[in-house]
Amino acid sequence: MNPANQETELTELDHIPDGLLEREATALYNDLPGPTLIHLRGRIERPLVVGVLQHGNETTGWEAVRRLLKSHYDTDELPRSLVILVGNPRAAKHRLRRLDDQPDFNRCWPGGKEPDSAYTRLFRRIHDRLLELRPLACVDIHNNTGLNPHYAAVNRIRSDYLRLASLFSTKVTYFTIPMGTLSHSMSEFCPALTLECGQAGEVHGTDHSMAFLEACLHLEEISLQPVDADAVHLFHMVATVNVDPDVLFGFGRVPADVAFREELDLYNFEELPVGTSWGRVNKTETRPLVVTDNEGADVTADFFDFSEGEVRTRREIMPSMLTLDRRVIQQDCLCYLMERIHFEDNEEVTTVDPLPEGIPRSDTFG
Ligand SMILES: [Zn+2]
Repeated sequence: MNPANQETELTELDHIPDGLLEREATALYNDLPGPTLIHLRGRIERPLVVGVLQHGNETTGWEAVRRLLKSHYDTDELPRSLVILVGNPRAAKHRLRRLDDQPDFNRCWPGGKEPDSAYTRLFRRIHDRLLELRPLACVDIHNNTGLNPHYAAVNRIRSDYLRLASLFSTKVTYFTIPMGTLSHSMSEFCPALTLECGQAGEVHGTDHSMAFLEACLHLEEISLQPVDADAVHLFHMVATVNVDPDVLFGFGRVPADVAFREELDLYNFEELPVGTSWGRVNKTETRPLVVTDNEGADVTADFFDFSEGEVRTRREIMPSMLTLDRRVIQQDCLCYLMERIHFEDNEEVTTVDPLPEGIPRSDTFG
């Protein structure tokens, strides 16, 4: 079987293969041919699910898991069962987000827009398998490429989800796009987070996520008590920004159609006033950015003005995941735009995400 076929079969293990914890992400492929669930039994049966390496170059999750297990769980019993999803060892081997013959794994989960394929069927199977285990929570660990603080993302606004997020960071984002992510597909059933742990290879990202996983393993439950508004700064993702594929762009003083500021990623998680410049437009009549709202509508003109040779914001917004990495910009996007959700403003929150029957609406607000 060629590797691409082999990796659409689910591998399930009930133990850590010998020597696996000694391997870096690039070397996992020898033991794990594709997406793999590793089930480890702990004292409390309901597991914590941890996703790592769905994007093969985002190694912090694997580093955190292997360090956690080696720290003392070679001898101590896990306080709670742990299910590790190792997402894309084949891309990890090449230090890439995904390979050219692969879809983006974290867009293939149920609810996504990926066309039906062996991959979407595989992730549906993994999803159903995880649901059978009734997880306490699901935590999917990622890295990004720009300068970003560590933050957690939720796909649903409920106090237990926010409480879990607040154990990782006071900065929490709420997003519904992109769809087809692990956390989105699980968030209908249990508290689910995507963790953004800075850039791959940074030790403090590994330290932070390892400490968070250790704390999660010791949680008896995740309380529905209201979260203190100071504990969570919640931002709603309202739009995605792409660079027009026909536009030549660069950063700093470059002779491109559009020259973005050299350190554009310093804007990440900054609430930018109206009129903030993102760079120069050197070629007139150029519309360098395309902004899409969560329904897919082109809302570029609401957010940016390109007249007078500048890219300027037209609304108060906060970008996240701004990156200077061309490959990421082309494969994914330039950034996301966020707006603050004010906790005391109950109406706004309930309109962005109606809570299911039986959950008191006030439970989100401290
Ligand atoms: Zn990722």
